[in-house]
Amino acid sequence: MVDLNDRVELVVASGKGGVGKSTVTSSIAIVAGEYNYKLIAVDTDAEAPNLHLVLGVSDWDDVEDYYEGRTAYILEDKCTNCGICYEECPLGAVEYNDGKYTINQYICEGCVTCSIKCPENAIRYKFKVKAGEIRVKERTMYNFPLVSGEILPGRPNSGKLVTEVKNKAYSLIGDKGFVLVDAAAGIGCQVISSLTGAHLAVLVTEPTPAGFSDLQRIHKLTKHFMIAPMMVINKYDTNLDFVSILEDYAEKENIPIIGKVPYDPKVPESMARNKPVITEYPDTPAAKAIREVSEKIVTEIVPSWREFRMKYKPKRPEPYIPVIVKPSL
Ligand code: SF4
Ligand code: SF4
Repeated sequence: MVDLNDRVELVVASGKGGVGKSTVTSSIAIVAGEYNYKLIAVDTDAEAPNLHLVLGVSDWDDVEDYYEGRTAYILEDKCTNCGICYEECPLGAVEYNDGKYTINQYICEGCVTCSIKCPENAIRYKFKVKAGEIRVKERTMYNFPLVSGEILPGRPNSGKLVTEVKNKAYSLIGDKGFVLVDAAAGIGCQVISSLTGAHLAVLVTEPTPAGFSDLQRIHKLTKHFMIAPMMVINKYDTNLDFVSILEDYAEKENIPIIGKVPYDPKVPESMARNKPVITEYPDTPAAKAIREVSEKIVTEIVPSWREFRMKYKPKRPEPYIPVIVKPSL
């Protein structure tokens, strides 16, 4: 068992989906398991969790309901069917069926516009609506636990569920060990919550203009949180000219490139079969490259994460400029 002196948190992130983030995460987890790490894997992609599928988990040892937010409903005896709420709801959650207005509980996000506009004070709220689940597998077939969050259809995605999923992982692993987080794609609330508190981030990208643009966006976020980044270029051989653009960016921004993975049809094939490519097709070039990246992280970077962080963390935090959208009342 590899015992770390602290709790080290590494997030695998990408500014865009479909670049191989879960393939990389599952491989790091499996290799860490092979090295007998005290490890917990955490799937924070709450809108589309799939790490458990790649790790062969089909049932859970514990499932906790997660409650958040509110939804509106109409008091029939007060409603005069004026239709104002139907006109004003920004999400189209108010429906008109069989001569009466009702609120679709899957669409309503409790924004209160309807109750402000209703002339009859006919709208009330249900609070603490079930919004998702936090699921625990105490031991996957690769000998480490997994925590996964899933938001229910129609529930707003505020990132709070991700925070609760991570808190669950912390409570299970304690204050020493390796926390490996599979972030959601993009740069939204879930990703911000995934990155909060992390020490290291693996940024998975592809050599395309979209891949580069998304890489810059996710890198900006890691800079805001003062996380030490490292880069993995997936399918690097599909656009070698663009690889040099990624390399220039990495050099300018002090991001070590820890691996380049060639395109390999065995990767999507193994994903389609919910099998990790490093165990399913271990001798293919992509599997070898992904294993090499994983071994580097597990045997070199995580054990001396403080030195790595000192060397590669941003010099100063990227300022955070929130976007404020004011509802027109
Ligand atoms: S605004 Fe109020 S009174 Fe009018 S339809 Fe909606 S709930 Fe009924
Ligand atoms: S609370 Fe907001 S989202 Fe829900 S029905 Fe009213 S206006 Fe629509």
